[in-house]
Amino acid sequence: MITPGHIATSYLISKFPIRRKEKLRPSETLFIIFCGNSFDLDFFLPPLFGYPGGVHHYLPTHTPIFGVVLFSVLYLLFRKRFSTKTFILAGIAMASHLVLDDFNHLLGLLNLDSGITTTPQILWEYPFNFGRKKNLHDAIGFYKNNPITNLDVLSIYTKSKLFVIEIITVIVATLVFMKNRIVNARISKEEK
Ligand SMILES: [Zn+2]
Repeated sequence: MITPGHIATSYLISKFPIRRKEKLRPSETLFIIFCGNSFDLDFFLPPLFGYPGGVHHYLPTHTPIFGVVLFSVLYLLFRKRFSTKTFILAGIAMASHLVLDDFNHLLGLLNLDSGITTTPQILWEYPFNFGRKKNLHDAIGFYKNNPITNLDVLSIYTKSKLFVIEIITVIVATLVFMKNRIVNARISKEEK
């Protein structure tokens, strides 16, 4: 999944049913969306070594163990600022990121999609299963022999089933966002 889908998913996670009194502040919603996208900051690493950013799914920075480290740092930095609920939802948003990045692989296992996008993307067991590190070497080898751009990677992605799921997620999140805006505007009018 790419950034619009991760933003939409994290936003929907931030809207998990909670009582009105426990409603998150805008800064908390933004924090959850940031966490849901934080893994993708590594997109800028591969270009430093001459590879397209698209190879970043195979890096150790796109693994659960890195997520735990990142989450711990963010928790230490912001624990006084945000509620426990915010951190729980932020953790779910981070986990959803990796699941969605590997979702084409899952669709492939279920015979719901095929092609290059269904190859495993996330090294879930890193650093415990060194065998799976082969994926990173294979990916780097592939990009070395087939110099393709980020646009090529994107064009391959748009032909996958996950892209359709991403579009639907973005539409649903936009509708929820608009509905919340209308409800909030009505509440603040009533309170005046
Ligand atoms: Zn990602």
